[in-house]
Amino acid sequence: MKWMLSCKEITEICCDEDRKLGFIENIKFWFHLGICKACSAYKKQVEFMSRAMKKIMNERAVVDEKVVSKLEKDIIEKVSNGA
Ligand SMILES: [Zn+2]
Repeated sequence: MKWMLSCKEITEICCDEDRKLGFIENIKFWFHLGICKACSAYKKQVEFMSRAMKKIMNERAVVDEKVVSKLEKDIIEKVSNGA
């Protein structure tokens, strides 16, 4: 049994919202995030993106295009700044 997930496995888990982690898998996942700065930064970015995309999807119906494109610009800036 291997305790250390690879960074590739972590990014796959992060990208797949529907994926349900088992108890052990969950421990391994958080263990990796605890020691791997790259993956914990990546996870934050994925969460930010998915929240932002949901916000855009929800608001697209009621806001005008200018607001949406500003939001999209903000996201791109945030991501490229690594925040
Ligand atoms: Zn990693």
